[in-house]
Amino acid sequence: MTANELTKFNRLNPDNYDSCAICHECDMLVEVGDLPPGHKAICPRCGFVLSRAHTNAVDRMLIFSITALVCLIFSNLLGFVQMAVQGQERKITLFETVQVLFELDEFALAAFMLIVIIGLPTLFVGAISWLAVSIKLQRVSLQTISLLRFIGYLRFWNMAEIFFLGILISMVKVASLAHISVGFSFWAYGLFNLFLIAAMMHVDKFQLARIIRRTVRQTQVMVNGG
Ligand SMILES: [Zn+2]
Repeated sequence: MTANELTKFNRLNPDNYDSCAICHECDMLVEVGDLPPGHKAICPRCGFVLSRAHTNAVDRMLIFSITALVCLIFSNLLGFVQMAVQGQERKITLFETVQVLFELDEFALAAFMLIVIIGLPTLFVGAISWLAVSIKLQRVSLQTISLLRFIGYLRFWNMAEIFFLGILISMVKVASLAHISVGFSFWAYGLFNLFLIAAMMHVDKFQLARIIRRTVRQTQVMVNGG
């Protein structure tokens, strides 16, 4: 659809503004609309997936994100990794890794760890939970679209799974020098990553924005009607 055709299309019905998606790969404007559960919309020019409607997407987002949040809390409470070298043992929690870096005057690395490994994943998973709860309880406004956009930006900064893979690789390298064992928090952090990915997979900005706008319109009609 060309820009002129889209303008004409939108003039006929203002609701059409919500039903078009721009392809991230080739910039083509495509009318998508509501999709039945389990269906996806692809760009007719390049085949890029524009939108995907998962079955019970909001329920799954809520369950996966809250489970991820619980796993993240547990991963900060107990022992993360235990290391034994020449008779000396040291157990460390996830939060203590940041403390140790501060004590070693590695302020930039400690701040990076705190923000990227603990702060941003907590904010990310909390925002997904908040969004899912808002939609479930139908307590949404047009600001909820901003929250949806914020989640879209945050997902690029989530590096929790890279950190987890980095630890696994480091453990393999250090295994010949010291005896290393993992604690309960390590597995909790691994599960947190799995549930976070599962929650993220169900966040489809296009379909969720349509649900939010539709709920806002319905609420306004009820308020005006009442
Ligand atoms: Zn395309």
